[in-house]
Amino acid sequence: MSAPSLNFYDLTRDELLALASRWGFPGVHAARLWSYVYLEGMEAWTEMAELPARYRGKAEAELAFHRLDTADEKHSSDGFTRKYLLALADHRQIETVLMRYTGRVTACISSQVGCAMGCVFCATGQMGFMRHLTTGEIVAQAMHIDAVLRGTHADAALAQADASSPHARHERLRNLVLMGMGEPLHNYDSVMKAIDILRDPSGLSIAGKRITLSTVGVIPGIIRLADESRPFHLAVSLHGATQAEREMLVPVAKKWPLDALMDACRYYIAKQQRRIFYEWTLIEGKNDSAENAHAVGRLLQGQLAQVNLIPLNPTAGFDGEPTGRDAAKRFQQILADYGLPSTVRQRRGIDIAAGCGQLAVAKPR
Ligand code: SF4
Repeated sequence: MSAPSLNFYDLTRDELLALASRWGFPGVHAARLWSYVYLEGMEAWTEMAELPARYRGKAEAELAFHRLDTADEKHSSDGFTRKYLLALADHRQIETVLMRYTGRVTACISSQVGCAMGCVFCATGQMGFMRHLTTGEIVAQAMHIDAVLRGTHADAALAQADASSPHARHERLRNLVLMGMGEPLHNYDSVMKAIDILRDPSGLSIAGKRITLSTVGVIPGIIRLADESRPFHLAVSLHGATQAEREMLVPVAKKWPLDALMDACRYYIAKQQRRIFYEWTLIEGKNDSAENAHAVGRLLQGQLAQVNLIPLNPTAGFDGEPTGRDAAKRFQQILADYGLPSTVRQRRGIDIAAGCGQLAVAKPR
């Protein structure tokens, strides 16, 4: 028998139902299979006792669960963050992060191997671009984190550790950020399909309000998101409030200039009636002065916006220091004077290089 040609995690529920119909089976079997996988976390055909043998045999011949094996994992010293190095079928690797905050757990998912955007302070950008991830590879990251949370991960030691956690027994993945390796809007179709699968109400059912996608400012993608009325949060990495300053940190600002980016953001807000989260990496002496804060204030004043300030996380390829707490507070106060709410992101997972802008993998040999 030849190996199954389809990855289950590439399929939406409608596609799975359509496949069943093409094979001559009622949709109810496909719906049961879907809930076995996404509600009960099963991947072994033998566990799926309620599937009729003929349908199960056909599905097993055609479909495979391309899970991502853990090549390495690191736990932060404070216990709040875990970083997984996951292996892809072509031996490339990606990183996926589980972050615990008070009362919630969030998965930070990658959308590409490497990144073409080249933000100078970002370890993924310093790697360059290797390839887009498939829908199935994006979904499988979320399923990996969900399996860890359910304590049914293949790694027995890890499963045991999770089962002994006070949070573990009934925990499911409920929060997702597409802020891992890669620019999600550069891989638009695969990312959107993956989000659709993860939001499916009869599956993992992650609510749109608990999903945030972060872009460096890919204007065509922002317009498309607005036109398609995608119901999740959008974060836009700004980092500089003038064209010249932004270009120094975010090279793709040359292709998608600040003025045009602001037009696209206003269009998105008007169409979606939804605020944009602007991300600002605070780099000491580079973009953290009072003057910089006023420039941000003038740029965003009047927009339905929130600014997330992220003190720089160290990477090997960028020589810079994070802004200190007092300067960050002063920056926040100036933004508040312009009516702009802001937060200073909690620094998590820095000791295992799992913070914002720190994800990277070695090139395959
Ligand atoms: S910050 Fe995001 S868009 Fe920029 S290089 Fe890193 S992964 Fe790519």
